[in-house]
Amino acid sequence: MKIPAVLHLDIDAFFAAVEETLDPSLRGRPLIVGGLAHERGVVCTASYAARRFGVHSGMALRTAAKKCPQAVFRRGRFHLYSRISRQFFACLRRFSPRVEEMSVDEAYVDVGGSRYLCASVYELAARIKAAAERETGLKISAGLGFTRLGAKLACEAAKPGGLFWLHDEEEFIAQLTLDKIPGVGPQTYFVLQGLGVRRGRELKGKYPAMWRKIFAGLGSGGMERGRPEPASRSFSRETTFPEDIRDQGLLYSHLAYLLDRLAVHLLGEKLFAGRVEVKVRFSDFSTFCQRAALPFPTYSYFHLWQSVLPLLRSLLVKKDLPLRLVGVKVEDLQAGRDILPFFSLRDEKMTAGIGSVKARFGFSSLRSARSLLLEDLYPIEREGMVLKTASLTK
Ligand SMILES: [Mg+2]
Repeated sequence: MKIPAVLHLDIDAFFAAVEETLDPSLRGRPLIVGGLAHERGVVCTASYAARRFGVHSGMALRTAAKKCPQAVFRRGRFHLYSRISRQFFACLRRFSPRVEEMSVDEAYVDVGGSRYLCASVYELAARIKAAAERETGLKISAGLGFTRLGAKLACEAAKPGGLFWLHDEEEFIAQLTLDKIPGVGPQTYFVLQGLGVRRGRELKGKYPAMWRKIFAGLGSGGMERGRPEPASRSFSRETTFPEDIRDQGLLYSHLAYLLDRLAVHLLGEKLFAGRVEVKVRFSDFSTFCQRAALPFPTYSYFHLWQSVLPLLRSLLVKKDLPLRLVGVKVEDLQAGRDILPFFSLRDEKMTAGIGSVKARFGFSSLRSARSLLLEDLYPIEREGMVLKTASLTK
């Protein structure tokens, strides 16, 4: 499954909310920050109570006063807002090195590289939101998406104070009216209105080229809108046994050996794997595969093993037959990671250390104990065991 990688956060009615925390008697009342009712200038922030009267930011103060005469007007204490704003961004930076400040109260956070911090990205998003709310003392809306646009729209939908995740960004945008779609400027909106196009769906149907242009980033995912996805690569190793095998220990041994080879190969290519797949073929030639996303991209044999073993176990119960083949594949290969998962560094260092010994003294110079059982089955040579059919596929 594709994992959402962008989190958009936006403090609700920021300036007004700060004023409310300092003067609780203002809570729930229409409050307008930006200047006094008779002054020139515009509304910086209107509380939700004031918005109900049609007041919005950017509106002339006098117009706001006409729309909502009972509102409380405040000039604003901007040094204070900017201090809270700094706390907000500092909090976000603890969770990801890639935070883009869009305004004083709005940011995009790339959570693609930090997703291993929690069991799920959604949980991580909730944690970031909660931490930011605790530290600023303010309510924050958050949206999770595959792209910035998706995250931004999810955040809009989550206001006030919620956390949304758009599972299907295109579908969601298709049902929006054009004025709700970021990327459709006033000019375009005007022209399209004239052409009778009102919603995303109609735009997509009638003017697909324009739709694609406006949403160029939708398909690419992540913070880098428009960046082409690198061609998907994978490495795999599999072997057919000299005789069908039922013994579980022996199957684990084969899998461990193949994975060891893959880990060394990944290391040599300087790549991190994002996903693993295990393949089995039973004696009746029926073949099954199962794949899983890794908690974070890695080349560590030890981490790969932790993900691969449960896959093999779940495949073994598919049929009550011995196996004739086992294989393992690493996919979603990437050249770098945004941040290092610090708690896995030790295991990765060990894999790297083992790899450098193997590079110097041959693959067989250091062997995983898990593959010991194979030593009775296959001859061992410097560069590995001589399996019956060792296949190398990309
Ligand atoms: Mg805001």
